[in-house]
Amino acid sequence: MEALVLEKKELLALREIELAETMGPHDVRIALRTVGICGSDVHYYTHGAIGQFVVREPMVLGHEASGVVLEVGDAVRHLAVGDRVCMEPGIPDPNSKATLQGMYNLDPAVRFWATPPIHGVLRPSVVHPAAFTFKLPDTVSLAEGAMVEPVAVGMHAATKAKIKPGDLAVVMGAGPIGMVTALAALAGGCSRVVMTDIQQPKLDLAATLGPITPVNVAHQNLQEVINQLTDGWGANVVFECSGSEKAAAAVFSPLCPGGTVVYVGIPLKPIAYEVAAAMVKEARVEHVFRYAHVYPRAIALMASGKLNVKPLITDTFPFAQSVEAFNFAVQMPPTSVKAQIVVAA
Ligand code: ZN
Repeated sequence: MEALVLEKKELLALREIELAETMGPHDVRIALRTVGICGSDVHYYTHGAIGQFVVREPMVLGHEASGVVLEVGDAVRHLAVGDRVCMEPGIPDPNSKATLQGMYNLDPAVRFWATPPIHGVLRPSVVHPAAFTFKLPDTVSLAEGAMVEPVAVGMHAATKAKIKPGDLAVVMGAGPIGMVTALAALAGGCSRVVMTDIQQPKLDLAATLGPITPVNVAHQNLQEVINQLTDGWGANVVFECSGSEKAAAAVFSPLCPGGTVVYVGIPLKPIAYEVAAAMVKEARVEHVFRYAHVYPRAIALMASGKLNVKPLITDTFPFAQSVEAFNFAVQMPPTSVKAQIVVAA
């Protein structure tokens, strides 16, 4: 089949590739419809590796996907041919210790689309476990369905934060993950999100998404804004989504006593973690790795209208222009958030 193949660092090709697709009784075959371009896809393209994961042989990219069911295995009960669906891209070993303890995202043997050596889904069809395939309600489009994957990261972060109704949250970083984390925090009960970045167009877009106060830390002081909004008490939750070492080291300053910090963005270098600053506030600190058990909740929030991702889908390309789409994503203008590829209409 024709797929978008990362041949090696900095070389993409839309070409024929042989992909094994054997159906088991618990699998479904899905025709791909929309696939979002993730920062990780772009990083494999430009760098050929993310940490320990190195592209050593040609790999199909793409893991933020929606599609339509073409075929169901004999044991599948909750899906039927023709259903519009989105998919969790990580397939754990169902018998692993991590999976059995409910932390299937932490299974060391997880096979995750477009993480070497596992192929992604910028291709016409894929066979996937039905257990990791979720039906989309009529009110959720296939483009929105392909946003469930990044939204799941924000949902997992919001879940870890244990938000209470009325909390005020800080989201550091207005990239795609910062945006979906802000939406998940608001849908999860936050009264307001204060969002930081140094790129004004991103903050301007964020401010249109809900009760979000943008703070451009290039020339505004976050602490002053938080003090003003909370009478000097501090934010209940700080989500670090920038990955910036400077931001990641400064998470405890805007936090209230007894507050929670969630590290979402991955800093590229070790950060100076201020244990004493965390101690004086008895801060609870959480970390997230991808997500688990949040797809149905993310879909439900989208279906009810409580979480709207439509403004985040800023750029759409046809499958034939997949390479162009990736070159666009490498040089993404600050006015864009998420680029998607329509594999089939
Ligand atoms: Zn992603």
